[in-house]
Amino acid sequence: DAQLSELDPEIAAKIDDELRRQRDGLEMIASENHTAVAVMQAQGSVLTNKYAEGYPGKRYYGGCEHVDVIEQLAIDRIKALFGAEFANVQPHSGAQANASVMHALIKPGDTIMGLNLAHGGHLTHGMRINFSGKLYNVVPYGVREDTHTVDMAEVERLALEHKPALIVAGWSAYARQLDFAEFRRIADSVGAYLMVDMAHFAGLVAAGLHPSPVPHAHVTTSTTHKTLAGPRGGIILSNHADIAKKINSAVFPGQQGGPLEHVIAGKAVAFKIAGSEEFRERQERVLAGARILAERLIQPDVAAKGISVVSGGTDVHLVLVDLRNCELDGQQAEDRLAEIDITVNRNAVPFDPRPPMVTSGLRIGTPALATRGFGEEAFREVADIIAEVLIADADADLSGLRHRVDVLAKAHPLYPGVSNLG
Ligand code: PLP
Repeated sequence: DAQLSELDPEIAAKIDDELRRQRDGLEMIASENHTAVAVMQAQGSVLTNKYAEGYPGKRYYGGCEHVDVIEQLAIDRIKALFGAEFANVQPHSGAQANASVMHALIKPGDTIMGLNLAHGGHLTHGMRINFSGKLYNVVPYGVREDTHTVDMAEVERLALEHKPALIVAGWSAYARQLDFAEFRRIADSVGAYLMVDMAHFAGLVAAGLHPSPVPHAHVTTSTTHKTLAGPRGGIILSNHADIAKKINSAVFPGQQGGPLEHVIAGKAVAFKIAGSEEFRERQERVLAGARILAERLIQPDVAAKGISVVSGGTDVHLVLVDLRNCELDGQQAEDRLAEIDITVNRNAVPFDPRPPMVTSGLRIGTPALATRGFGEEAFREVADIIAEVLIADADADLSGLRHRVDVLAKAHPLYPGVSNLG
């Protein structure tokens, strides 16, 4: 069989280019990470050939004896990692995990509550043209204008008024921790299910550095590729046997056909790594890096330019930069950082006056750099580079900062010793 580079040199060359891009720059998109080579090996395997509709021991296809063991290992490892009694590891993505939970527990037309997209919620928590916004009656809750933290009094008031069938707690752009026990109390008071979407902070929970939603939520969903550092995919956890049955049939055959057993093998490997001391230590650096960045971005030289940090700091792996009072908008700030090979994404901040394609914010995360070995000293240098880019004049020469990025990238090689991952 021909190698990729012979059979399809165009694709092979672009994979090489992407490896080079990841190596040469600093990846600070908060939802991204660099997964382990072992995860990519599992994912790039013959398992991609296998149909396995059903669940371990109960398949609709023959020849599943090996994938059964793999999927069961993934289930057992994630259950142990989060102390959950039930796990489904088949969702192809975080969005499909959330769709499956809604499919399992509520009916079209029911009311759901989720964090407003414009305040840091995810598309699947009730955005107008997402399935969640089309199928369900959405009542969004938001953050307080003075603290930029979720207003639990508003959550309770809206729940009592609208009697939702499901409350979603979780976020894509929020720098603080949610009060899961309080969410559950409110859900119980109106007979709603509580679903926590821990996609962003699952790695911190696995490391014991963030409160776990699993004991509080009826169902917890997550992606596997953000702080958890696995392959792209989703998972669903619960401690309720009756809910577990409904979830399994909502994932298959409700939402999906054949599971991606090659991805599930990658998930199993990632869950093994996530149980290690090395992983816990890495997540400590993730948090330290975000704190260092937030502290740098509230210093007087930055504040003088009208730049601040949403909620004044961070308890998690990301910092939200507030550019509402700055001449520089989110798009310009993202472009400027891209010029010096730091990749971030612009992001609307709560009460953002600029349009969604421009925004007045940046979301900057530390997981991928921590995976590359960044410690506190390196994060202080990154924070200083970012501060200097943001306060630089529009026509400033950024080549000195570009060089400092290059020094950091070379000092923290990505996938050392690997010449070609294509
Ligand atoms: N849930 C949250 C909170 C997210 O931030 C995301 C992705 O950004 C998702 C779900 C969806 O994950 P996926 O992109 O795998 O569908």
